[in-house]
Amino acid sequence: MCGIVGYLGREKASDIIIAGLEKLEYRGYDSCGICFYDERAKRFVMYKDKGRVAHLKNDFDYDKCNGLGIGHTRWATHGQPNQLNSHPHFSEGDRFAVVHNGVIENYKELTERYLAGVQFVSETDTEVIANLIARFALQMPAEEAIRKTLSVLEGSYALLVVDTLDPHVLYAAKNKSPLLLGVGKRGVTLASDVMALVGYADQYFPIEDKTFTVVSEKDGVSCFALYDILGHPVETKFMTIDIVLDEIGKGGYSHYMLKEICEQPSVVRKIVSKYLPEDRIQIDPETLSWFKTAERIYVIAAGTSMHAGFVGKYLLENIAGIPVEVFIASEFAYNPPLLVKNPLFVFISQSGETADLRACLVDVKRRGFRTVTITNVPTSTLAREADKFLEIFAGPEIAVASTKAYVGQIVILAILAVALADRPPFDLHKELAKVAVAMEAVIDKREFIHGLVKAKITKRNCFYIGRSLDYFTCLEAALKLKEISYIQTEGFAAGELKHGTIALIEQGVPVVAIISQKAVARHTRGNIREVCARGAEKLVIATQLVSDPTDELILMDVHESLTPLITIIPTQLIAFYAALDIGKDIDKPRNLAKSVTVE
Ligand code: GLU
Repeated sequence: MCGIVGYLGREKASDIIIAGLEKLEYRGYDSCGICFYDERAKRFVMYKDKGRVAHLKNDFDYDKCNGLGIGHTRWATHGQPNQLNSHPHFSEGDRFAVVHNGVIENYKELTERYLAGVQFVSETDTEVIANLIARFALQMPAEEAIRKTLSVLEGSYALLVVDTLDPHVLYAAKNKSPLLLGVGKRGVTLASDVMALVGYADQYFPIEDKTFTVVSEKDGVSCFALYDILGHPVETKFMTIDIVLDEIGKGGYSHYMLKEICEQPSVVRKIVSKYLPEDRIQIDPETLSWFKTAERIYVIAAGTSMHAGFVGKYLLENIAGIPVEVFIASEFAYNPPLLVKNPLFVFISQSGETADLRACLVDVKRRGFRTVTITNVPTSTLAREADKFLEIFAGPEIAVASTKAYVGQIVILAILAVALADRPPFDLHKELAKVAVAMEAVIDKREFIHGLVKAKITKRNCFYIGRSLDYFTCLEAALKLKEISYIQTEGFAAGELKHGTIALIEQGVPVVAIISQKAVARHTRGNIREVCARGAEKLVIATQLVSDPTDELILMDVHESLTPLITIIPTQLIAFYAALDIGKDIDKPRNLAKSVTVE
């Protein structure tokens, strides 16, 4: 998790770093810090803040001239999110300053072996890195000391290092955690995500694992050299940045989450234009043949993407007749099932950087199995390392709680299912066009939904119930509500409630029921009666075809297999307004980060 930014060039480094950290804050926001070279005072200065980047920027003088710096916004793994533990960290004696994204697994062993007597200031694993470099640098040049440090580190890291003895060099290295290097006319920027490079770099490339780079200045021009861990030069291929600044702004909305909810109809249309131009499905034939010939698909995912995976399982099994199993990535990694002989692994990740998934990807690739990633970030690690990848085209998603990327994942899975069906069961192009319109109709009712939230979501806990495809929507809806409003919410298969959890239903507890599947609608209505008899406050969301006049919210009909794309929209709005009304930080909920780059 966390975001790091570094800069060496002719611009003011502190400006670029602060602007970059603001864009990367979605990755972690426990605390933040910056270290840069003050050219007038001829020394490095460091500022840290327990709060957000917006606060950090008031902590120091902007007018100082500085062309080299590193910054960090943290998602704590070792030690509390306080000022002392915030990055950057100096080595003892302040020679090296380091920012780090990731987890050093052997930091205790390294401390015992190499760092006896060092007085640590923080509880972080990162401070060990700074001190290892300093210790080795007593006997060798800085560059060699950093490489030696890398050779003993176990775990994940994206690292930026400055040597206070040399204000013209910036060092960077990475293993598992993402790090990109961008080159612009006036300098070199390094960052965890391409968003922090927009505006400062024309071209960039993702640094590969166990690669080390030295950015330096020659005659006022910044340049870089790339090496493997042994110091051998490494080649790279540049990519151009295709994000425009407008895409990463709030565009007049109060919150990114609301903007992203409202963008969902256009995401569906964009995906259709990419994968179904002129009504014909356009997916790489080899990828399709892998799906067709696999004995079984294993979907590996986490959180919201796993819920999209459940919907995908339903679609691939029911439309294309391909057996699918869905696994929580962190479970699959250490407790894998008995595999079929000819599996296909599908990794679903919004960011394409999810460490739990990466651990599985590395393992199944080593075992020689085929892999496909579905992600919103085409340059991400999972996209690059899988054999094939399918882009979601949802555009940058900044709110930590995923909305449009989730919907995009389901659209891709629906397109795949129809592409793989012997006889397509419906006209997907037409049905997805209807979905976009039905989504717009729900979004237009958002003030009405806000009213429902005020009237009904009034307790510390809440339940979502549904059956079949609606059950998966309930899982995702519950996750959305709990992650941004902190209301304890459970998504339940409606029929399962009475096997224990119904004990929690008491007077006024909200139970939101989702009904869009004809075969089970009657049964879910029976379950609603059961909870109402025990005092629950019901809120029924149903599609027109299976609706009842007493339902609180009735949605336009779309094809029954595609209802998860529209039933999810009111639940996202419920989460948004519930969090808004109790004053939560919607785009940056506590303890979370968008891109989960630690296992
Ligand atoms: N492990 C480091 C810490 O706890 C870095 C965490 C991060 O990636 O933000 O400070």
